[in-house]
Amino acid sequence: MSRHRLYQNYDYEDELSDYDGQGAQDEEEDELSPEDRKQMTEATAEVLSALGLQSDKITVQQIQEALWHYYYDVDKSVAYLINKYIDPPKKEAKPKAKPATPASDAGKKTAKPSKHVTDTASELNKLKIADAAPLPKSKNLDVLREYNGSERKKELSFVVVGHVDSGKSTMLGRLLLDMNVVDQRTIDKYQKEAEKSGKSSFALAWVLDSKTEERARGVTMDIGTNHFETDATMLTLIDAPGHRDFIPNMLAGVGLADFAVLVVDAAKGAFEAGLKGQTREHALLLRSMGVFRIIVAVNKLDTTEWDTERFTEIQDQILGSLKALKFPLKDISFVPVSGLQGDNIVRRSTHKAASWYTGPTLLEELEKSEPITKTEDHSKPLRVMITDLWDTPQSAVTISGRIEAGSVQIGDAVLVQPSGEKAYIKAIERSGQPDPVDWAVAGQQVVLYLSHIDEINVHIGDVICSVSDPVACVNMFTMRALAFDTFFPMPVDLHRGRLAAPAFIRELTATLDIQKGTIIKKKPQIIKAGTVGRVRVRIEEGAKLPLEKGQRVILRSEGSTVAAGLIE
Ligand code: GDP
Repeated sequence: MSRHRLYQNYDYEDELSDYDGQGAQDEEEDELSPEDRKQMTEATAEVLSALGLQSDKITVQQIQEALWHYYYDVDKSVAYLINKYIDPPKKEAKPKAKPATPASDAGKKTAKPSKHVTDTASELNKLKIADAAPLPKSKNLDVLREYNGSERKKELSFVVVGHVDSGKSTMLGRLLLDMNVVDQRTIDKYQKEAEKSGKSSFALAWVLDSKTEERARGVTMDIGTNHFETDATMLTLIDAPGHRDFIPNMLAGVGLADFAVLVVDAAKGAFEAGLKGQTREHALLLRSMGVFRIIVAVNKLDTTEWDTERFTEIQDQILGSLKALKFPLKDISFVPVSGLQGDNIVRRSTHKAASWYTGPTLLEELEKSEPITKTEDHSKPLRVMITDLWDTPQSAVTISGRIEAGSVQIGDAVLVQPSGEKAYIKAIERSGQPDPVDWAVAGQQVVLYLSHIDEINVHIGDVICSVSDPVACVNMFTMRALAFDTFFPMPVDLHRGRLAAPAFIRELTATLDIQKGTIIKKKPQIIKAGTVGRVRVRIEEGAKLPLEKGQRVILRSEGSTVAAGLIE
C-alpha cells in the first residue's frame, strides 16, 4: 500500500533529538511550569468546590486533565466533567454500536448485547426470513473497466485536526455554508438556539456538532462526515475531535483521510499553547498514520487585524516543528483565514488589511491535494473497515467506511471478519452521489447495505473483505513500532481505525536501526522514546481481530500514545 511505502522510506534521524527532549513526557504534570502549577492548583480547588459533593465521583487527575485541555477554564471543565462522569447524557438509539471511548473499554463491544440472548426466538425468525430472501442480483460488471471508463471527478477525503477551541467547527460550518451544503436558514435557526443558551458564536460550529449531547457540551465528540463538490473534485470532510479523550476517534478519522487540515488559532498565546499541546501530538499522529499532506489554516486572523508578520511567524514555527517530524515540506501549505467571518475559506478576503495575501483560498488548497489510494490498490482483495453501523429500512445491517483495497458491486458475496459470516451486497451508495450506484472502488467512501447476515455478527471496526482472500483473524502479531514514549512489556490499548481493543506488549524482540530496519540489539529490556523496536503484541481476553501485514496500528496507554507502526 502506498502509505506503507512512504513509511518505509522514512528517515527518522532528525526527529530523535526531538523525541528525547519532548514528546509524551511533556504532558506529565511534573513538567508543568511554576505558573502552570500555581494555576492548576487554584483551578483544581475551584472545580472541586463547584462540584461540591459530586466531586467524589471524579479523581483529581481527571479534573486536571480537563483543566489542562480547557486552559484552566473552570466553567468549561466543570461542564465537561459533569457530562462525562457525573451525569452522562443518555445514549442515542442510533447508531447501534457506538465507538468505544475511552479505549480501555473498547474490547467489550464485541461481546454480544444481552438483548440478543433474550431475544433468540425473534432473532431466529429474522434469520429465517433473511435466509429465505432472494440473493441480490449481480450485474456481473467488470468494475475496474467501468471505473476507468467512467467520467469522474477527483475524489478526496480529508480530516480536520487541531487544538480544542482553535476554531475547527466554526471553520467547517463556514465551509459547508459557503459551499451550499447547509443553507442560511439552518444557520439562522442555530443562531437563535445558540443565543438562547448564551453561546451565539457557536452557531456555525453547530452545523457539525449536530447531536444534542454535543451541543450542551460545546465539544465535538464523534466522527462526522459531510460531502461537497466543486467542478473538478468531490470532497468528503471527516470531522475529528480535538479533545485528548477523543484521540481514538481522531485516529479513526485520520485512517479515512487522504490529507489533513490543521487548524491553528493565530491569537497570541493561544497559538503557542496549541503548539505545545495537541498541535504537536496531532502532527505526530498524522505522520505515524501516513498522512503527509497538511494544509495549515492559520485561523482567527481577524483577531490580529490580519497581521502579516504574525502569519509568517506562525508559518515558520510550524514548518520548524514539521521539519523535525520529517514531513515532506513540499506538501505543506498555509492559508490565512477567519472561519467566523469566512475570509479565504471559499471566498477571498475583501479586507483591506488582508490584501497582502494573494495565494489560494482554503478550498483551492483542498482541490490541489491528491488521493493516497493508488490504481494498483483497486485490483487487490476487498477490504472495508466498518466506520459506522446502523439500521435502515433497506437493511438491518447498513455500514459505512472507506474501501481500503479492491472493489465491490451489488450482488457480491463478502465476508465479515472477525465473525467469519458471509453477507451479500444489496445496495451501494458512494460519497457525494445522490443516487445509489452499482459499484465502488478503493479510495471511495461508501455506504453498503448488507443482506443475509444477522446484525449480531457485525460491529464497528470489523472488516468486510473478499470471500476468496479474506483478512485473517489473529490474537498475536509482530509489529515494527516507533516509540513515542519509552516502553517495556505492558498492557496497552490497540487502535486501528475504529477498532480498539485491550492488548499486551508481550515481547520486545529487537531494537532496530531506524533507517535500515536492521537489528541492533536482540531482546532489549525497553524500547526508548524515539527509537524503533520489533515487538510482539497479544490481543487480550482471547479475542481474535482482523489484522494483516502492512496495516498501521497505534498502541496507547492511559490517554497517551505509546507507539505506532506497521504490522509485519
Ligand atoms: P473547535 O473547538 O476547534 O471546534 O473551535 P470552535 O469552532 O468551537 O471555536 C472556538 C471559539 O473560537 C468559539 O468561541 C468561536 O466563536 C471562536 N472562533 C472560531 N473561529 C473564529 C474566527 O475566525 N475568529 C474569531 N474571532 N473567533 C473565532
